[in-house]
Amino acid sequence: MMASMKQSQLFTKTRKEAPRDEEARNAQLLIRAGFIHKEMAGVYDLLPLGLRVVRKIENIIRDEMDGLGALEIQSSALQKKEAWEQSGRWNDEIVDNWFKTELKSGQQLGLAFTHEEAITSMMKSFISSYRDLPIAVYDIRTIFRNEERAKSGLMRGREFNWKALYSFARSKEEHDTFYEKVKDAYLRIYEKLGLGGSTYLTYALGGSFSPYSHEFQTLSEVGEDTIYISDEQHIAVNEEALNEEVLKDLSLSREELREAKAVEVGNIFSLGEKFSRALNLTFKDENGTEQFVYMGSYGIGITRLVGVIAETMSDERGFIWPESIAPFQVHLLVFGENDTLRIEAENLYHDLKNAGIEVLYDDRSARPGEKLADADLFGIPYRVVLSERSKEQGGVELKERKGDEVEYIAQDRLLAELQQRIETI
Ligand code: ATP
Ligand code: MG
Repeated sequence: MMASMKQSQLFTKTRKEAPRDEEARNAQLLIRAGFIHKEMAGVYDLLPLGLRVVRKIENIIRDEMDGLGALEIQSSALQKKEAWEQSGRWNDEIVDNWFKTELKSGQQLGLAFTHEEAITSMMKSFISSYRDLPIAVYDIRTIFRNEERAKSGLMRGREFNWKALYSFARSKEEHDTFYEKVKDAYLRIYEKLGLGGSTYLTYALGGSFSPYSHEFQTLSEVGEDTIYISDEQHIAVNEEALNEEVLKDLSLSREELREAKAVEVGNIFSLGEKFSRALNLTFKDENGTEQFVYMGSYGIGITRLVGVIAETMSDERGFIWPESIAPFQVHLLVFGENDTLRIEAENLYHDLKNAGIEVLYDDRSARPGEKLADADLFGIPYRVVLSERSKEQGGVELKERKGDEVEYIAQDRLLAELQQRIETI
């Protein structure tokens, strides 16, 4: 549970106009609502409301990663070039999006765009015997990529937040079992984020260790990827993998697939021995024979998810956050300066807050129209208004952001009513 708060304490301001230097709808709305601040193209600060959304997504992911038995680490952003030279990925012709820097001594460093090399190298300190395996570690952190185009707001940042998971197994079989579990965990994560219906397990080109890699693609008009969906199986094939062999393998026919635009919100890869060979990560098996560790890596774009959700779960007035990741569960508004009303609102705020509901209480002395517009823009799932009019109607006004219906509820029944409705309590 995250803390409740009064809106008078929120330093961020909402804006009526979208910033002129921003084309992406997700960033326009997020900036207007004060969830993020634009530092430069592709680089954003997360402000209190935006950070709450990110934290909630992280926690949903964290639960599922812990459920897989993976352990959380925090890897470093600064990386030494030696490990990357061993895999060939230090070369700018092979990886074109490095941000590189150097120490005062002149020694070159990279700002992490991923961690396969660093973590493989780190694991050499901890893996030596078959008894040390299997292992999985995950990392929720900032990633740096010198992306050529950064016009999609949070969907393609030059600095962004992700979760990466790396797995280390004794054999392909052991790896495959874990890989399947990750696939299921990912599907549960998107479901919990409210994206279950619009996110497809997508078959993409695999590299050399498995016939396919798997992407998770969420439908969006502004998506950069084209996928071909089987509604019956709720899976998709990425454009690049759409060929007869793949279709046959998946028992799909081209006619039953529909084309759609989508955004890659995650992916999972079997790495095989690619990195363990390059960096010499081995273990002694039961017979004392030296073997290469079999690896996998699995990503989820956390800030990209905020962008996709902002893009797809919003209307002309603002966001419509799913309950699981909304910055607050309830937005309590009081209208006017009447002392009795103010005291009642304050009491309601404390009652809801003490019952474990995350409340944003708009205690400012702003006009009702302004408060209502902000409430629509913020997109908190439940809006409660206390005003002279609501009192005449018997209590408070309750409205869900996603619907149009307004209900009046006695003040002493509000808590029970909300507890019944809010899924995540
Ligand atoms: P894309 O093809 O969109 O550039 P990618 O193949 O480079 O993605 P990975 O390197 O596999 O992506 O990263 C894992 C996940 O991180 C992606 O599935 C995506 O959700 C997210 N991601 C990748 N690049 C960005 C970015 N520039 N901004 C925000 N999220 C990103
Ligand atoms: Mg990329």
